[in-house]
Amino acid sequence: MADAFTIHWFRRDLRLDDNTALFHALSSGHPVIPLFIFDREILDELPQQDARVDFIHRRLSEIQTQLTALGSSLLVYYGKPEEVWPQILADYPVVAVHTNHDYEPYAKTRDEHIGEFLAGQGVSFMTWRDQVIFEKEEILTGAGGPYTVFTPFSKKWKAMLTEERLASFDTESLFGNFFPTEPLAIPSLAEMGFAPSQIAFPPSIADPEVIKVYDQRRNFPAIPGTTRLGLHLRFGTISIRKLTRQARLLNETYLNELIWREFYMQILWNFPHVVSGPFRPAYAAIPWRNVEEEFNAWCEGKTGYPMVDAGMRELNETGYMHNRVRMVVASFLTKHLLINWQWGEAYFAEKLLDFELSSNNGGWQWAAGCGTDAAPYFRVFNPESQLKKFDGKGAYVRKWVPEWETPAYPNPIVEHKFARERCLAAYQSVLKK
Ligand code: FAD
Repeated sequence: MADAFTIHWFRRDLRLDDNTALFHALSSGHPVIPLFIFDREILDELPQQDARVDFIHRRLSEIQTQLTALGSSLLVYYGKPEEVWPQILADYPVVAVHTNHDYEPYAKTRDEHIGEFLAGQGVSFMTWRDQVIFEKEEILTGAGGPYTVFTPFSKKWKAMLTEERLASFDTESLFGNFFPTEPLAIPSLAEMGFAPSQIAFPPSIADPEVIKVYDQRRNFPAIPGTTRLGLHLRFGTISIRKLTRQARLLNETYLNELIWREFYMQILWNFPHVVSGPFRPAYAAIPWRNVEEEFNAWCEGKTGYPMVDAGMRELNETGYMHNRVRMVVASFLTKHLLINWQWGEAYFAEKLLDFELSSNNGGWQWAAGCGTDAAPYFRVFNPESQLKKFDGKGAYVRKWVPEWETPAYPNPIVEHKFARERCLAAYQSVLKK
């Protein structure tokens, strides 16, 4: 065994190519142990059938195949990081640990604790920007504060972009620096109390034909007009630098969507109160109705509004929902049913393969009208007009709601005009005081 190792700690950067922290670890001069921890702090909260755990497991097996071909192996643990790290240091003479930034509140606290522990053991803990092009407080207003409105943020983002920022990290040329070993075992899903999922995962391919015409096709849920890369951006199975280079060449609207992702990440970082309540505090007082039967009808796709029902059934079956439909179902829950947006946010968090705390929270707060760059609350989506406009022939709805337009289909749970007025009255009751 070597007398000093460097560790690369994988979290949401599950790839060997163009990986910032991995590049720096491989350049460190010591053999590199690639590590993954199945974190019980996260896993213990999840249902047994969580497709995302299956996705991570499959992805680690693919990385293991790549590393085996290089004569190395992943080192995989199942446990709580604070318990696993002392064990690692007892087993290996580690001098440095490299990892990529994770901006979510739990991850931030975890990394602070692990960083302190490692420092106490004389091990350096080096962390890097990898999952975004600009992070934390890198994009600031002229006055020096974080942006809370998307358009000026995106302008500044584009103005600050350089070729250097988008350059890939050439990890491949350093692959000889992984520690040599026979393959080490990865805990099975069953050993961790999980079952494989029946959901088919989309490939991690950024199809240039989709991106080229993204602006023309992205709003129609019946056609494959979006890239389905959310899951891969979530777990880092695609490089944001490569994808941004492609977006910049092919389609400005697509590039803007990638910037929306970063906009919400920096909102989460700079305004962490959004995790537990509205960005605009006045909205905390909205008199939500929170009727459980209505919430259940929404979850099951039985509201009698075809676009809402199609979206919820697509989500339940596939772990995905088209963006246009996410906006419609979120608006319906919060405005038509007057159910707290946080109920919907939690349901999406459980079901979405591409669940991202920052974007999900941002999307829900936008829909409820209480977020940063929110649509004004008096703009209430009409689910029937949305259907006519974006699924005029009903192809999307028919796919997910086969009984639509038959007597078996439920009547609308609430009448649109009545719901709209009830919503405006509820919002005005707290906002006009
Ligand atoms: P594409 O349209 O191909 O876009 C490419 C990528 O750009 C996406 O994968 C995503 O990373 C990013 N992106 C696109 N639109 C947005 C957006 N409006 N906000 C932030 N990033 C965006 N996105 C998530 O990644 N995770 C979530 O948990 C999530 N929850 C949402 C909840 C609500 C209520 C709403 C209205 C939107 C939510 N979104 C979320 C944003 C958006 O709906 C998804 O990113 C998109 O539908 C994913 O499909 P795609 O990969 O085909 O995206």
